[in-house]
Amino acid sequence: MPAEVKTHYRACNLCEAICGLEIKTQDDQVLSIKGDKNDPLSRGYICPKGTAMEDIYTDPDRLRKPVKRQADGWAEISWEEAFDTVAEKLVAVQEQHGQNAVAFYAGNPNVHNYGSMTHASVLRKAVQSKIHFSATSLDQLPHHLTSYSLYGHQSLIPVPDIDHSNYMLIIGGNPLASNGSIMTSPDIPKRLKAIQQRGGRFIVIDPRRTETAEIADQHLFIRPGTDAWLLMAMLNTLFAEDLINTGHLTDLLVGIDEVAQCL
Ligand code: SF4
Repeated sequence: MPAEVKTHYRACNLCEAICGLEIKTQDDQVLSIKGDKNDPLSRGYICPKGTAMEDIYTDPDRLRKPVKRQADGWAEISWEEAFDTVAEKLVAVQEQHGQNAVAFYAGNPNVHNYGSMTHASVLRKAVQSKIHFSATSLDQLPHHLTSYSLYGHQSLIPVPDIDHSNYMLIIGGNPLASNGSIMTSPDIPKRLKAIQQRGGRFIVIDPRRTETAEIADQHLFIRPGTDAWLLMAMLNTLFAEDLINTGHLTDLLVGIDEVAQCL
């Protein structure tokens, strides 16, 4: 008698959109991976990477056990030997070349992995290297720095409420490719289209004709490196034309007069 077909509800950990998945399995075999229609965030959306997770799972080249290079090729070793070897070599490299000779890299999907979330910082502290690389350094550190300066913590990052916005201005972002990095908004095409369907608009400012710019209501090109001037000009107009209404945020905003004086 064939084994029972089971349905599992999981989240895709390949990127920050964390789409809900509905996975059907029979024994060890994955029968299908689809978007979970009842997931409140992704609402059934899934991108080709999510569907292809089975290929990672079944890839014959996938590392399932630690291996070590030998004179005649790779050989499986135990986890104990693997951990001992890594510890020994890391220490040896640092002893010979200095503490910063060991570097860390973090990006998708290891930043969405429980093991690295709970233990990576412990390892970093133990290794005491100043050299860290991350996808963050390309697309998120400015957000972190601004949030740290404004709100006191680098992770307190405001995100656009795309589902309730009627005007969305995207500067130098390409959410169609990134799936809304930082916004954590799966199915960006549908969400952007919904802005237009409820009578709103979204505008892209970008020197490149991106995928998002292609479907925007308006695409404004900008000379690379002049973003700061554009933003200053926008600020200047807000003050010059008396368009600022701080509303219920008035008590929270400090230093607004100083901003005006800088322009
Ligand atoms: S957008 Fe694709 S890769 Fe990212 S979480 Fe969703 S299915 Fe996974």
